[in-house]
Amino acid sequence: MSAKLPQKINAVLFDMDGVLYDSMKHHAITWVDAFKQYNIDFPEKEAYLNEGSTGDATIKKAIKQIENREATTKEVEDIYDEKTRLMHQLPPAEIIPGMQELMQELRAAGVKIVIVTGSRQPVLLDRLKNDFQVEKEDIVSGWDVTHGKPHPEPYLTGLKKANSSADETIVIENAPLGAKSASAAGIYTIAINTGPLKKETLINAGADKVYKTAGEIGEFLKKKGLIQFK
Ligand code: CA
Repeated sequence: MSAKLPQKINAVLFDMDGVLYDSMKHHAITWVDAFKQYNIDFPEKEAYLNEGSTGDATIKKAIKQIENREATTKEVEDIYDEKTRLMHQLPPAEIIPGMQELMQELRAAGVKIVIVTGSRQPVLLDRLKNDFQVEKEDIVSGWDVTHGKPHPEPYLTGLKKANSSADETIVIENAPLGAKSASAAGIYTIAINTGPLKKETLINAGADKVYKTAGEIGEFLKKKGLIQFK
């Protein structure tokens, strides 16, 4: 499902992991290492394909695919605890280059910014205030929705928070499940491909455009006259 490019934009809804922060490689490596301790050979690419899914769902799917059996409740808990423990040992993820500037340009053009993330990590949510001047009321997190991505609920909730309609809003995503969620909500979706996935994987999931950098997204919006400076 693809959406039409808006004539004007009131709001841009940003995903967080892999869009604002280069945190996906941390998630990928800690998934691989956590599974390894349980003798399960989890391919790193799976972390990117499952991005946006819950930890439980990722573990159950992996064990089903790799070992052709159901995961036990204890396994699910243990592997997820180990993954979380390994994440806490890593340094904070870096900001994706150019994202602060892109957000500043959008705000200068009067565009409302809302963050739509499945994350439930308070530390990361606090960082949004410091790094991107995003207030708590402008964040849709994993705590605010019943259905996570790829369900449209997160982005529909984002539209409400932004007080904008789908045809005057753009989503910036990096993950197939995120692009699916946004396009199911009827919103024009630009993917920033910061990971190892093929462009086609994001297009097939519903992304309307795929770029490599924040700078390219800014150029596109300017070329289309969507960022008009006041
Ligand atoms: Ca993401």
